[in-house]
Amino acid sequence: VLNGKQLGALFKQFNQQYFGGKLPAYRIHVVRRITRVGESGRCLERRMLIEIQHGLPDEDAISTLLHEMAHAAHPKGGHSMPWKKEMIRLREAGAPLVPPDARVRLDDWDGNRVTRRMFRTELEDAFCGSPDDLLKLTLSQAIRCFVGNVGGPSTISAFLKKYPWAGAVLKETKKEFREYQKQQAAH
Ligand SMILES: [Zn+2]
Repeated sequence: VLNGKQLGALFKQFNQQYFGGKLPAYRIHVVRRITRVGESGRCLERRMLIEIQHGLPDEDAISTLLHEMAHAAHPKGGHSMPWKKEMIRLREAGAPLVPPDARVRLDDWDGNRVTRRMFRTELEDAFCGSPDDLLKLTLSQAIRCFVGNVGGPSTISAFLKKYPWAGAVLKETKKEFREYQKQQAAH
């Protein structure tokens, strides 16, 4: 299992190797708990901090680091087109990605169905570096953000008709962010 120091050294190495040394100097922390469901890392752009889930097999930790570095290269973009292009570029450059990061495609959204998980993950990703902005987000803004980054029905009302759970998911995500902030404040 790689520790934060080793991952920090890999960050420097990958930054030179794959990003032309252009990424700012992020700190890398290995953390016990990541609030995002099903995600193994996150990129806190404002704090210039990348968090990697503790206990991952080395190849997953390394792939997650590269996933988060691609976020660092395109702050606030979530899993939008620039991020996807970055991931494909990394794969083609031979970066050690493993699935699902190794399988990113430009047309990842199939145009048919947005899942609750997709909606939530995208919001978490878009705002993980700025939780205060997420807490102020209206449902319309959240939908616009999702559709801009990922795709989906082009009007708010069409989106809500198809995915009436969007409001509840936004609420849940806000609750999670609030709890995370409380936790951080307690430390
Ligand atoms: Zn991500």
